[in-house]
Amino acid sequence: MSNVTLTIDGKLIAAPDGVTILKAAATAGIDIPTICYHEACTANALCRLCVVEIEKQRLLQPACVVPVREGMVVQTRSARVERSRRTILEMLDSAVDLADAPEIQAQMAEYSVDHDRFPDAERREPPVIDDNPMYVRDYAKCVLCWRCVQVCAEDAQYTFALSFDGRGFETQIGVFFDQPMPETSCVFCGQCVGVCPTGALKPRREWLLEQGKTPEEIMELTRSERRGKKRKKGGGD
Ligand code: SF4
Repeated sequence: MSNVTLTIDGKLIAAPDGVTILKAAATAGIDIPTICYHEACTANALCRLCVVEIEKQRLLQPACVVPVREGMVVQTRSARVERSRRTILEMLDSAVDLADAPEIQAQMAEYSVDHDRFPDAERREPPVIDDNPMYVRDYAKCVLCWRCVQVCAEDAQYTFALSFDGRGFETQIGVFFDQPMPETSCVFCGQCVGVCPTGALKPRREWLLEQGKTPEEIMELTRSERRGKKRKKGGGD
């Protein structure tokens, strides 16, 4: 593969033709923040946190999908870029519970987020979904990064249990016909939990511990749930 030469933050860089600005910058030691991007997933430019300013281009461009070009001049920390990132983080902060998202919290500190920027914003507060023995779904913590949907589909598992549900503010990750997870095509591989950046998907045992249950209580709960399941299968009550 041939190389192109470009400038990122004043640094002259040679990068393989076709790689993204995000990858070229990383190779040169320049960190561009991301939320929806994950190495194991197809980049989709959903969160827009990785936007950069490219000379002679009117709009900020998402570094995770835009490829490098010969002679490109890129600014990753211009005032415009910083303002855009700060606003995205402030919007997320105003509507989503980010308590279990340490990377996003670090980004908020780095970009001096004003936690009161949108005081009248409505918070997303759907109830926790605890419908299977393996993991819980707390979409009050979901930033709609799409990673879980991608690993459940073509990026890894080819199970297609998850998808987007609803529109606009009501958009959330859902399953077909709103079924409990055991009634869907989910195989409980755990890959969605592994890529979730915010704790919206969490192993059930971890969640129960956080709820104040002791390991013994969790063991007993799991046993009684299993017994109930067996009775149901056997036609009992
Ligand atoms: S549940 Fe997690 S991985 Fe899935 S979209 Fe929400 S934040 Fe992303």
